[in-house]
Amino acid sequence: MKRYGTFVAEESKMLLQSVRDFVDREIMPVRIKLDESREACEEIMRKLAAMGMQKYGLSPKYGGLPIGSIVEYCAVCEEIARGDSGVATEITCPEWLFGPAMRARNKVVMEKLMVPFCSEERHVACFALTEPEGGCNGEDGTQRGKTLRTIAKRDGDEWVINGGKRWPGGASIAEVYGVLCTTDPSLGEEGVAMIYVPNGVPGLTFGKPENKMGMRYSDVNADIYFDNVRVPVQYRCSGPGDDWKLFRAALSFGRLSSAAFATGQAQTVLEIVINYTGTRFYKGKAVREHTLQAAMIADMAIAVESARYYYLSVASMFDDRKQFGDPGDSYLMGKASGAKVYACDVAEMVCNRGMELMGAYGYIKEFNVEKYLRDCKILQLWEGGGQLGRIEAAAGYYEIN
Ligand SMILES: Cc1cc2nc3c(=O)[nH]c(=O)nc-3n(C[C@H](O)[C@H](O)[C@H](O)COP(=O)(O)OP(=O)(O)OC[C@H]3O[C@@H](n4cnc5c(N)ncnc54)[C@H](O)[C@@H]3O)c2cc1C
Repeated sequence: MKRYGTFVAEESKMLLQSVRDFVDREIMPVRIKLDESREACEEIMRKLAAMGMQKYGLSPKYGGLPIGSIVEYCAVCEEIARGDSGVATEITCPEWLFGPAMRARNKVVMEKLMVPFCSEERHVACFALTEPEGGCNGEDGTQRGKTLRTIAKRDGDEWVINGGKRWPGGASIAEVYGVLCTTDPSLGEEGVAMIYVPNGVPGLTFGKPENKMGMRYSDVNADIYFDNVRVPVQYRCSGPGDDWKLFRAALSFGRLSSAAFATGQAQTVLEIVINYTGTRFYKGKAVREHTLQAAMIADMAIAVESARYYYLSVASMFDDRKQFGDPGDSYLMGKASGAKVYACDVAEMVCNRGMELMGAYGYIKEFNVEKYLRDCKILQLWEGGGQLGRIEAAAGYYEIN
């Protein structure tokens, strides 16, 4: 656990060690299989659910497993993503999805929809933000929900939802969907409504799973269509204005977790490269002992460590709301976005350089580097990508409209 320095509390170390052991034992040997079939991914997810990782972060009052701190949570994300970032994404999604309902103390959502996730049995969650018209529309803080096109209208005791989402992880296989809607785009943030939708309700349909470069089976992505989908009014997270704040906090938290995922991926590639270049020789010396290559490895290691200490220090600010405010406010949103932008750029750089250091061996499946390169790319693109991420990082310093 040395790599987490003094950030991780003594009480968190046992959990982290058991996650690390699980990843080394169960995920590392089957990474190629995870890239080839959904069944292989499901088997790993079942095992992670059985060890409590699916309910990690869900309210203990409902049977969930409490988080020691946000620092601990992020380090757990890094540990799982060392093995596979898609697996890490899907298994931590219930916490991401129900986080806003827990913060809003929405009892109905917790009792009716969250409770099944608080078990050791496998369940899939989906947080649906992105729309076909523009992925960043919902995520762009300056738009304040004005460009959202998924509309929720109240009809008596129900919300009636119409519109569509594109790409969400878990779409079609998830049992519960958190849907970013607006009651009226002209109302801006007052119109934003986060509504929970259980699978199986009339009018909820899905497109075919996307055929992707990375996270090929560990994250299932598809279109979601809402055609007069009706859910009880209590399935709205909170209310006007509040839902916007809860959503922004969830997005900020999502970006911070992505920074941890990217760091985990980069860490593994760094280790693969260090090992491999110790066994390959030119001019009578191991590749890694030549100064040129040692300097490249040093740059990779420095970048991975910087990415880790960056996200851990932001996580420690998330743990101190009194001093640093709400995660959805511009200060912490800026920090979380910056940590994500940086860690994702580092992961891409480390995979690229790693491949160069390994020559053709980095390019074949056997050593997994090509898989990490494909998998980590989407971490950089999602949640608004590096462009919106940079804008939000700047918005932590001055207002951008
Ligand atoms: C594997 C995978 C998993 C995903 N998982 C989820 C999920 O779980 N839930 C979910 O809701 N979505 C998910 N997405 C969608 C993902 O978050 C979006 O694709 C991403 O946010 C970008 O949206 P877009 O593709 O529509 O790009 P566009 O919005 O079309 O953006 C195109 C370019 O313009 C930039 N840009 C756009 N708007 C702005 C802006 N306002 N400011 C600055 N730059 C901007 C972008 O950064 C990008 O470079 C997933 C996608 C994939 C491929």
